[in-house]
Amino acid sequence: MSHDLTLRGMVDALTVSGVLRSPAIRAALLAVDRARFVPDAGADAYRDAPIVLRRGADGLAISTISQPTMVVQMLEQLSLQPGHRVLEVGTASGYNAALLAHLVGDDGYVVTIEIDRALAETAAARLSGVANLRVIAGDGRGGYPEDAPYDRIIITAGAAEVPDAWTVQLVDEGRLVVPITGRHRSGRCITYDKVEGALIERSSTPCGFVPLR
Ligand code: SAH
Repeated sequence: MSHDLTLRGMVDALTVSGVLRSPAIRAALLAVDRARFVPDAGADAYRDAPIVLRRGADGLAISTISQPTMVVQMLEQLSLQPGHRVLEVGTASGYNAALLAHLVGDDGYVVTIEIDRALAETAAARLSGVANLRVIAGDGRGGYPEDAPYDRIIITAGAAEVPDAWTVQLVDEGRLVVPITGRHRSGRCITYDKVEGALIERSSTPCGFVPLR
């Protein structure tokens, strides 16, 4: 199996490592070319690494396109079905949003929210051809009540805790995947299901993320 720096090589490597299991996610990864979301990266677009999009005054990354392994792990945790309505917090490049839109299909809907207005505008332009997807510039800590409720909510920046808004905006039996991270940006990516109005933790895996702001 080839592990060269091509889209196919990236997908094969994710399969061999064991993180990529579902055929639908494999199809989405092959249909949505990661290189389109990091136009300056060249073949590095297909490495299993995050790529920094913005740095803060302290030099630390405040926006990245996430590592493919992390993207796939979270999509596997999210357990998306065609027709689902999904909220993503942290659009950045728009790559994960495009994968979400592919996975929920024409009967589904994705809204993704990004606090950095310039990033939101770039992503919106890049994704303008995707009919079942909307990009909003704003603060996702309050969710996006305008389009709630959601079958799935995915947070792609590290949170210190889960704000009530995210729970409220999930349907009952809905699922939330969120990295809960500490001061050093590492933590656990937690899968919660909403059961009778409350979040029940189902599973978690180690992860690192830029923080929510
Ligand atoms: N899903 C992205 C990666 C997200 S990186 C991709 O596929 O490329 C995390 C992003 O969350 C950063 O772009 C950051 O600006 C954004 N972010 C941080 N705090 C936020 C907030 N309160 N609301 C919305 N977006 C936020």
